[in-house]
Amino acid sequence: MEKKIDVLIKGHGVVGMTLALYLSQRRLNVGLTLEHKNTELTSKQDARYFALNKKSKELLERIEAWPNNDDVTDLQDIQIYGDHESELSFTPHEKTTPLAWIVKASALDARLRQNIKKQQNIVLVNNDQDDMQAPLTLICEGKHSEMRQKLGVNFDVQPYHQHAFATLIETGIDHHGKALQWFIEKESGPEILGLLPCEGNASTKMSVVWSMPSQMAMGMQEKSNDEIGESLSLLTKHRYPEIKIIGPSATWALSASKARQWVGKLGPDRYWALVGDSAHTIHPLAGMGLNLGLGDVAEMINIMDLRDEVEYWRKLGDPYLLRKYERTRKTDILSSWFFCNAMQRLFSHPNRLIKTARNHGLNGIQNLNFLKSFFMKHAGS
Ligand SMILES: Cc1cc2nc3c(=O)[nH]c(=O)nc-3n(C[C@H](O)[C@H](O)[C@H](O)COP(=O)(O)OP(=O)(O)OC[C@H]3O[C@@H](n4cnc5c(N)ncnc54)[C@H](O)[C@@H]3O)c2cc1C
Repeated sequence: MEKKIDVLIKGHGVVGMTLALYLSQRRLNVGLTLEHKNTELTSKQDARYFALNKKSKELLERIEAWPNNDDVTDLQDIQIYGDHESELSFTPHEKTTPLAWIVKASALDARLRQNIKKQQNIVLVNNDQDDMQAPLTLICEGKHSEMRQKLGVNFDVQPYHQHAFATLIETGIDHHGKALQWFIEKESGPEILGLLPCEGNASTKMSVVWSMPSQMAMGMQEKSNDEIGESLSLLTKHRYPEIKIIGPSATWALSASKARQWVGKLGPDRYWALVGDSAHTIHPLAGMGLNLGLGDVAEMINIMDLRDEVEYWRKLGDPYLLRKYERTRKTDILSSWFFCNAMQRLFSHPNRLIKTARNHGLNGIQNLNFLKSFFMKHAGS
């Protein structure tokens, strides 16, 4: 390898690729690692659609990675149903700014890959070729990060014993930009069904994220698409009488996790930092995991800009700046992390009194406008 690499980015998910594009715009030579012995960035199938907030949208727009209108849907309204007829709706007073945007994961991935290929100062590196002595290594390998494990970083994991099943459905009814979420209590354990409006603003298709006990998720592979469609129709209380599965399906094991240490030293004048799911994961019920990862990217860029513009005597990977990144991000993710954890635990608690309280809670919030504003701000910023 002839070019000296300034920053090595391990992992090319949305977080790693977004970072690579931002750093390449700052005249840095970036190495981006591929898995195994791959030599090219190839696209991956992804059944998911991400709910992204305004900050994430703006961050991706600045590197021209925001997908086309057909792959983006304005989220205008959210309706949540508890297990005993309790309800909560989030409708903005004015419908000018959407609450969030529902983005096709594969379209975002394709957009980032195209842009990476155009950048001459991003070098694609094989996984077995990655000891490049770069002053800074950014670890974006997702929740199972190998490098984080090799570094011996403590990663506190709270398993939910749940999996999320994701697919795309045809409902036959215009979605009008409305997302729906059901918290369902069953003998076999709690389930959370989320339907997100997708495939553009005038569409009848919805993206499904269905969290269920892990045991049940194992059985999903044996079910036909018709059987899954019928189960979904039943869970929505026949709001959609005929649901057809029209996209690929996949399942993910769910957990909430946090790394105790986010930054450290690799060797003389060489440092590392964790970014995105390598540092933290949360339950997808509030659609915040990637938004938090992109928040990490924004803060990493902030400290790079601070070094360029004000503290120019500092080296790349300066420990003072990396610790600033760690402090800021740890504080920032804490409220989302606790919010998702608390909601998940509240709705999976078997105690009868807690069940009653949580349903009164949903109806109570519905009547308290200031609390609803708090939740909307929390999810959308
Ligand atoms: C069902 C579901 C729905 C979700 N919905 C939302 C949502 O609506 N909104 C939201 O904000 N978030 C959502 N999330 C969370 C979101 O998917 C993650 O937070 C986000 O994808 C994390 O991105 P990442 O780039 O940090 O990690 P990843 O997406 O895990 O990417 C890591 C990349 O690194 C690669 N890699 C791993 N190891 C190596 C290695 N050793 N060398 C090279 N490459 C390596 C992997 O192949 C992968 O490409 C959802 C999650 C799930 C499971």
